[in-house]
Amino acid sequence: MTSNVRQAMFGEQPVKVTCAQCGDVTTRAQPVPGLLSYLLGGLLCAFGCICGCCLIPCMCCQSVQDVDHNCPKCMALLGRYKRI
Ligand SMILES: [Zn+2]
Repeated sequence: MTSNVRQAMFGEQPVKVTCAQCGDVTTRAQPVPGLLSYLLGGLLCAFGCICGCCLIPCMCCQSVQDVDHNCPKCMALLGRYKRI
């Protein structure tokens, strides 16, 4: 992983950061479909047609999702945790 320091501080859990407008806040972590979930979803859809199973990971599995970190007060996007 060669992510910069700014990105490395954001993970799956809420973190304490300083919002430009509100000061010290604990972010609201919200899973969002990321590139990885689309890749897995596409891959699984391709295999699903063959195998007959239709699991869609971008809908049911949060472990492949990116996580947006929003300020709980002003809802500004403070950071994003990307898996890839
Ligand atoms: Zn704020």
